[in-house]
Amino acid sequence: MAEPKSITELNVQGKKVLIRVDFNVPLDKSGKISDDTRIQSALPTIQYVLKNGGSCILMSHFGRPKKASPEFSLAPCAKRLSELLNQPVLMAKDCIGSDVEEEVKKLKEGSVLLLENVRFYPAEEKPELDPTFAEKLAKLGDLYVNDAFGCAHREHSSTYTVAQYFKGKSAVGFLMQKEIDFLGKHVKKPVPPFYAIIGGAKVSTKIGVLKALINKANALFIGGGMAFTFMKAQGIPIGNSLVEENMVQTANEIIALCKAKNVSLFLPTDIVAATSFENGAPSEVFDAKIGIADGYQGMDIGDKTIASWQKELVKGKTVLWNGPVGVFEFPNFAKGTKAIAACLAALSNATTIAGGGETVAAIQEANLADKFSHISTGGGASLEYIENGELPGIEILAK
Ligand code: AMP
Repeated sequence: MAEPKSITELNVQGKKVLIRVDFNVPLDKSGKISDDTRIQSALPTIQYVLKNGGSCILMSHFGRPKKASPEFSLAPCAKRLSELLNQPVLMAKDCIGSDVEEEVKKLKEGSVLLLENVRFYPAEEKPELDPTFAEKLAKLGDLYVNDAFGCAHREHSSTYTVAQYFKGKSAVGFLMQKEIDFLGKHVKKPVPPFYAIIGGAKVSTKIGVLKALINKANALFIGGGMAFTFMKAQGIPIGNSLVEENMVQTANEIIALCKAKNVSLFLPTDIVAATSFENGAPSEVFDAKIGIADGYQGMDIGDKTIASWQKELVKGKTVLWNGPVGVFEFPNFAKGTKAIAACLAALSNATTIAGGGETVAAIQEANLADKFSHISTGGGASLEYIENGELPGIEILAK
């Protein structure tokens, strides 16, 4: 498989570089950016272009607008980016059209223009609705760089279709490169023992990655809401816990695959379960050998599980984590997730990789992000990359 160029292989001197970034940042109730990690993550690529004599035309989506509307404007991101770069950032009124083209024409070396939300056009998410949308975006740049890893699993106009107009003139940015290095290299060819901890709410969203991991991992640790479908598959009573009845058979297949491929499967051996889905709900610990009583629902892994998983995880040389092992949003049921975060953060001789919005939020809440080898910026994208070993938004750049 051909590799895409790195931005360092492009000559950006005097060039207008169209860069797909991911500025889909969270806002607080007053409309202020509450977490600018995504803008900060794009800085190395933007600064590289500016330092090497190019100008940046940035494009991104923001939220899920049904039509163009001010609450979905990227203007707050232009302001924040300007503060971070310590230079003006021009905010375009649109992302295509003659006014934008005029503005681009006037753009001087070393300057930055942020285009308005590409999702103001339905053709962003559905390029087939209007193939000229991508063509109009492409008209704005001499070179194209994709640095939006979190969107690289989508064949959208600004992440995929537009790249077809830049054959030999496109590249990945530094953020995307880091994701390729960690997920592509360390997960594709992991140093053993390779352990994967998969949690979160549902089995159905993670079957593909679970099956892919069975071919690579030495052990799988399954926690969170999805563990109960696996427990049910083994005939263990799960009370009122989250379960996907239509996934019980799939869970059985995964259990059988692990046996056949000699992959150790760690399911919770004890569970903290509550009488309702609330932080303050009365709770009890149930042994998985007996199961969870009716009227209780599993909320977190128990102390015995934490201890036995920790004992194994410290032997790992590559550890991948996606999905909290409990309802960590409720402090009373965050102990398991916090313990896993602390355990991985303390592994100094291993490559530790975490991905998925909730998992990253849990790690950040515990102030442990800098103790991980890599925190992936893409939830769905990182799972698909691990599963398929490629993503459309990356592959198209290599063509
Ligand atoms: P995902 O996006 O699939 O990684 O799911 C993350 C969500 O799974 C988090 O919001 C957790 O609250 C939720 N989760 C984790 N453990 C449980 C559980 N035992 N029961 C219900 N939801 C859970």
